[in-house]
Amino acid sequence: MIPGQPHSTSAHQPQRASPDGDASAPWPAGAWQRELKRSIRSGAELLRLLGLGQDRGCLANPDFPVRVPRPYIARMRRGDAADPLLRQVLPSPLEAESAPGFGNDALAEADAMVDTGLMQKYAGRALLIASGTCAVNCRYCFRRHFPYAEHRQASAFPGLAAVRRDPSVRELILSGGDPLMVSDSHLAGLVTQIGAIEHVVRLRVHTRTPVVIPQRVTGELIETLRNARQRVVIVLHFNHPREIDDDCRRATRALAEFTLLNQSVLLQGVNDDADTLAELSERLFDTGILPYYLHMPDRVAGTAHFNVADAPAVAIHRALAAKLPGYLVPRLVRERPGASAKELLCP
Ligand SMILES: *Cc1c(COP(=O)(O)O)cnc(C)c1O
Ligand code: SF4
Repeated sequence: MIPGQPHSTSAHQPQRASPDGDASAPWPAGAWQRELKRSIRSGAELLRLLGLGQDRGCLANPDFPVRVPRPYIARMRRGDAADPLLRQVLPSPLEAESAPGFGNDALAEADAMVDTGLMQKYAGRALLIASGTCAVNCRYCFRRHFPYAEHRQASAFPGLAAVRRDPSVRELILSGGDPLMVSDSHLAGLVTQIGAIEHVVRLRVHTRTPVVIPQRVTGELIETLRNARQRVVIVLHFNHPREIDDDCRRATRALAEFTLLNQSVLLQGVNDDADTLAELSERLFDTGILPYYLHMPDRVAGTAHFNVADAPAVAIHRALAAKLPGYLVPRLVRERPGASAKELLCP
């Protein structure tokens, strides 16, 4: 039980029609786009909002600009330069430093592209780059150098052609960028076309948008996913327990009819200790989400300052496993180019 959180917020209980809360989720169409427009796009502005000085060196990075929605900033601690949420989104001068073994395409994703916007690394699953943008620019992003412009999915969804041709694809994963950055009508068109592909039996959506802008969970979105012919799995991306606020809980409650999983990235200075990760797992469960993966940070240029080495990562994971029931322990994995599955670091 998390202090300060009443029992009745469990996502597994029937929704009550309460005057607050449920009336605001799902949110009306348009609210999330307004939040997106109001996002902060400069490190200096972000620091000012948090009451922090701005003389902290290199804060502009034109290749990967600052982008932080205000609902996410509202969860940061004012005056705390080491805030774990702030650390995920504030550019550091360290991004400009090159580190040995860190490259632009550390995962060899260019080799895994089988068609426009369609990536295939693992048997039975294909990943569609459904959008080239995100609601937030995470400084540790492994796809920060991805050539999105070459892989646009206009309304004809060129990437689906390869899925139609390949009956071995049982699961289609919508990724990006963030697939929930597209409009509800564009997404509905995509889901309809996927529905027509007989051999695809699962539809997975990997998204961080409802984390940083819970208002993304609109009635239209829920309707679209409910109408999907496939079973729907939504993989959210929370890294820290303080990222889960009341609006996030409302958003996930509104999505409770789908399978909800979470993947995190193990990040130095953000969540690289067992207590934080245990609290994250417990809060996720209270919110109706099961922990799935804890990713080792990928060796992507500009992100070396987030890196956690293997030995401490494994030690953190062991300590985590000693605190929690097995179903709340995410699998510690790393992505290896050319491997047939994500590599487990802990047996
Ligand atoms: C991570 C990933 C998947 C999904 O792997 P799971 O182990 O099924 O979660 C699928 N395709 C690509 C290209 C990936 O990078
Ligand atoms: S939401 Fe995901 S893809 Fe987008 S910037 Fe963050 S880590 Fe990268």
